[in-house]
Amino acid sequence: MGRKFFVGGNWKCNGTEDQVKKIVDTLNGAEIASPDVVDVVVSPPFVFLTSAKSSLRPEIQVAAQNCWVKKGGAFTGEVSAEMLASLNIPWVILGHSERRALLNESNEFVGEKVAYALSQGLKVIACVGETLEQREAGHTMTVVAEQTKAIEDKVSNWTDVVLAYEPVWAIGTGKVATPAQAQEVHKELREWLAKNVSAEVAETTRIIYGGSVTGASCNELAAQPDVDGFLVGGASLKPEFVNIINAAT
Ligand code: PEP
Repeated sequence: MGRKFFVGGNWKCNGTEDQVKKIVDTLNGAEIASPDVVDVVVSPPFVFLTSAKSSLRPEIQVAAQNCWVKKGGAFTGEVSAEMLASLNIPWVILGHSERRALLNESNEFVGEKVAYALSQGLKVIACVGETLEQREAGHTMTVVAEQTKAIEDKVSNWTDVVLAYEPVWAIGTGKVATPAQAQEVHKELREWLAKNVSAEVAETTRIIYGGSVTGASCNELAAQPDVDGFLVGGASLKPEFVNIINAAT
């Protein structure tokens, strides 16, 4: 009980400086639910992180979309958790399915990344989710449990982790999971946490849903008892993101 609603906006590899400014202006000018009832965390591309952070209203936090698996060094093109921490970037998204699929990030690699980011003081939005093929084969829970176990194997404290259930077939496809489909997996994930981590972690960890959430679908999804918020891609670039934030109330 008492899990605060959480809405993340994953801007992915989108936006020019002007477009980012417009999104920030929209968010700054909108009527949004109080930070007492919702954590709002937007995730601009790295190059816009610090400017977005300093121009956004203070109750909207920011997340990086990735960070390196270990301490920084000779890893051309990567950004380390230490760098993000030094800039007071509070959150990082790890294990997004686009990175798992396109950049071959394995469950174990994601687990290591989550552990290292937490060790550097970052909070983590950790993504799990099955492909359509896996769902149709009846393997949804096995897949998300394996992905979550690889995180649990490396992490000793779940306080700063938000778990994002993002079915791959729903991401960027316009095919949002039904409220019942989302609730079923979230409930099973919470039961998995209770069995494999602790009752307290199961009770307190926010499990958010991601995959084609829009202003039209958010309220029914938010009404599900185990849906504690959203990770939003496409719609986080549009004014309807405000409606999704306000699904918290
Ligand atoms: C995402 O990228 O995390 C996501 C959920 O995207 P979309 O909302 O566009 O499906």
